[in-house]
Amino acid sequence: MEFFRDSMLELIIQTSTNLPPDVRQAMAAALKREDPATQAGQALAIIGENIDIAYQGEGAICQDTGYLTFEIKTPVGVNQIEMRKQITDAVAVATQRGKLRPNSVDSISGKNSGNNLGPGTPATHFEQWEEPDIEVRLLLKGGGCENKNIQYSVPCTLEHLGRADRDLDGIKKCILHAVWQAQGQGCGPGALGVCIGADRASGYHLAKLQLFRPLDDVNPDPRLAKLEKEIMEDANKLGVGAMGFGGKATLIGCKITASNRLPASYFVSVAYDCWAFRRLGVLLDAESGAIKSWLYRDPQRPVERLMPEGEGFKLTGREIRLEPPLSEATVRALKVGDVVLINGPMVTGRDGAHTYLLHHGSPCDLKGGILYHCGPVMLKEGEKWRVLAAGPTTSIREEPYEADVIQRYGLRAVMGKGGMGKKTLAALKEFGAVYLHAIGGAAQFYARCLKATGVDLLEELGVPEAMWHYDATNFMAIVTMDAHGNSLHAKVETASGLELEKVGAASN
Ligand code: SF4
Repeated sequence: MEFFRDSMLELIIQTSTNLPPDVRQAMAAALKREDPATQAGQALAIIGENIDIAYQGEGAICQDTGYLTFEIKTPVGVNQIEMRKQITDAVAVATQRGKLRPNSVDSISGKNSGNNLGPGTPATHFEQWEEPDIEVRLLLKGGGCENKNIQYSVPCTLEHLGRADRDLDGIKKCILHAVWQAQGQGCGPGALGVCIGADRASGYHLAKLQLFRPLDDVNPDPRLAKLEKEIMEDANKLGVGAMGFGGKATLIGCKITASNRLPASYFVSVAYDCWAFRRLGVLLDAESGAIKSWLYRDPQRPVERLMPEGEGFKLTGREIRLEPPLSEATVRALKVGDVVLINGPMVTGRDGAHTYLLHHGSPCDLKGGILYHCGPVMLKEGEKWRVLAAGPTTSIREEPYEADVIQRYGLRAVMGKGGMGKKTLAALKEFGAVYLHAIGGAAQFYARCLKATGVDLLEELGVPEAMWHYDATNFMAIVTMDAHGNSLHAKVETASGLELEKVGAASN
């Protein structure tokens, strides 16, 4: 198994930087469906450009390089203990090279291990099979979409859909509800893995395993094949759209399995994955560990670009230039739908930073500033830090804190993805600030706009949670919550809820 570690390293790097062909195809179709002049169309153009840049430069597609799940099949007699050791070795090297963000955190102390290793990470699941080769599949699933996984215990009552019973109609309601509740927070257009039945724990596991199926396969069970097709049609009528901006592309895949259950239990478990649907696999020679072939890829087909060469997201000339520190008058003039280009300083702050700001005070002056909800991938080169990947993280996690942070530190904008809730919206209005929406997962696109100028709280919080100071150049974002009480997120949630009611009524 002399090549096994290198094969795993290659699998990790390829999975993190190069989307598989079936996902590219689904995203290309989503791009075609959407009007390029809409916010959803603009988001998809940025995503398309980001996918191409990541492949060209072998950079992480998204800064949240995700929870690593390895599913491994081995012939009888292969040393699985040694394989696990070499996989952890490969994970540490990939992290050191900046292909993976340090993403493994002690759940009690909050300390980041710095190398993606720790109890439970990475997840490595072994199974034996009667084939001569070793098969390794890898899924990198980020926190934003992981947080939108959901499990239903039917019968239950669902918002906009009413009662979901223990039958195919009830299951369908649960799955559509799962799509609706994700809104933009899981970085749609998304893909679903679903398990009907099982117990709570294996239901989620089996749902996640469905994400290893190619998007264009057909379920061998005709009842489930029909359900998958119906979900795809109905979910794309909801109008949630890319990033929850509204639009036609809400879902790029739905894969369903069923597992036996206890008579008393009936779970529908849904694993929601984002557009940055990173999964690949390899077939390895069991003697040497060398890669024999790639799964999901066709060796005859070169990687297809999402956007034609030289094309990508285009500025219209109507964008509003923001140069922090911002005045109250500047942000009060902004309204939902405005596209802004940020030029000048901004500082990152996510979960750890918000807690720190509320308990200890700020290590830097935030007055008039933009606080970017982002946990970047950074690489130290000599004494300097380089930004490798820097897309937004899900803002709603900061909902309990943001209003206080805005008031206390005089922020004029918070920026992230997925939008925020009523408490923050009220604070934006009262104190004169806006919520800016960057495009979720567009980590390479945004990394090109940012230069690191300093960092606070690196020792205390680790790389993703530290407060990084950046100098931004033409950093594009959309105002989705303004200082007048308007929220695009609330609007889309209400409108898509009404569509959900219609779809539910039609299927009754
Ligand atoms: S694309 Fe969005 S949900 Fe997916 S990993 Fe990146 S930030 Fe998380």
